[in-house]
Parts: sequence; structure tokens; C-alpha cells
Amino acid sequence: MLEIVPLPAFQDNYIWTLRAADRKTRHAAVVDPGEAGPVKEYLAREGLTLVAILATHHHPDHVGGIAELVAMTKVPVFGPKGEPIPALTHPVGQGDKIEIGALAAEFSVLEIPGHTRAHVAYYGLESLFCGDTLFACGCGRVFEGTAEQMLASLTKLAALPDATKVYCGHEYTLANIKFARAVDPHNSELAAREERAKKLRAAGKPTLPSTLGEERATNPFLRCAEPVVVESANKYLGARAADPARVFAAIREWKNGF
Ligand code: ZN
Ligand code: FE
Repeated sequence: MLEIVPLPAFQDNYIWTLRAADRKTRHAAVVDPGEAGPVKEYLAREGLTLVAILATHHHPDHVGGIAELVAMTKVPVFGPKGEPIPALTHPVGQGDKIEIGALAAEFSVLEIPGHTRAHVAYYGLESLFCGDTLFACGCGRVFEGTAEQMLASLTKLAALPDATKVYCGHEYTLANIKFARAVDPHNSELAAREERAKKLRAAGKPTLPSTLGEERATNPFLRCAEPVVVESANKYLGARAADPARVFAAIREWKNGF
């Protein structure tokens, strides 16, 4: 069993730290260390030794701290093959398994391109580390791929079990919910989610992890085939979106300017 701890970084990033839940072994792994400072502080405070670094994609707010961390402790660095990840030792792609022996943890790699060319997610122990692809009630911007690719990547993630905990890279939930309510105004689960998220943020707590069940019920980017989402996309376009990829592209574009 792992305990997964969010370390806030920059304005709204989370660096996810994995450690033994029984706290007997003093090892930790980190996902997407955009800066080294918060990781070093946490490891020192908790008396933990770093054993692995996992990167989902090459953006600086996810990999900016890697060089400094490996200079301190030489550990394996897992990351997408085909992206410039600093100090990368284990390039990974679809179907690869990664093992973190010191934490008795194994994760499968899912390739989820769209936000970046070779973005990956790590899935295991009912947990999904998905960087900037799937966000709580939203999704990342499509920078290096196409709308078709991004929709296929989100669809791949949406096929995981309902109970899967979603650990994404940013605290964007409230803004995402606000947009989702514009797209899907009568969704009562979405309204309930907004209440829960507001309370958490008011108490200074992360809204993450969410679950995939929750995402499937409320995240408009996973609901591009729902009539209400199609209708909202059509309204935004002033035309009829021909297929789910066009619906996805329309609401993604709408969100960019929201
Ligand atoms: Zn990014
Ligand atoms: Fe990011």
C-alpha cells in the first residue's frame, strides 16, 4: 500500500510523492517534479530517501526539478521516449511496466499523446498519474497533437475502472467545473461536485485525487457523445459538429477562451 502525498509547486502544480503507507520503509518516489525545492524539503522533513522519478511529459513545470534531484541522489528517471526529459534513464512507451522495488509498486505505461507528442500516464494500485492530459473535470490543452489524438487518449483513460484515483498535474478543478457547468448546465452530479470542490478549496485542501467514475459523470471532455455536450458544441460552433472529435475540438477551443 502506498500513501500518495501532494506537494504544491509553483502556482497550481502538484508533485505527487509516493511512499509506503505503513511508513516503515523510508523510500519515496516522485511524479513530475517541476521544481526540486518542495521535494527536497519534504524528503528531509520526513527522513525519506528518493528511489525513483516518474515524468509524464517534457514541460518545464513537470521536469524542471529533475536535474537537481538526481544530482543529490542518483535514481532511475522514467519518462516518455521521444521527449526531451532531463536525466532520463528509462524511456517508456505504451504497454511497458515499471517497477519500483523499494516501494513494492508496479505501474503500466499508457501512451496518451495530444497535450504533448509522447505524453504518458502511469497506472497501477488503482491510481492514475496522468500529468496534463486528463484534469479533474477538464483536460489539458492540445499543444503538440491533434484533437483526434487527444480524444483517443482521454477515451483510453476513461476505459479504466470507476474506482481509479486520478492524480493529475494541476489544481484547475474549480475553473474547470465552472466551464463544465456552461457546457452541461443541468447535470446534478456536476452541481454536487462543485459544492464539494468549493468546500475543499475554502479549507485550503486539494480537490484531488478524483475518481474516474466521477470524471465520466461530470467531465465534459469525456462526454463528447452525450447529447447535451453535442448540443452545446453545436451552439458554440453555430453549426453541427460532424463527429465526436469535432465536438471535442469545439469545446476545447471554447474552454481556451472561457
Ligand atoms: Zn504540460
Ligand atoms: Fe503542466
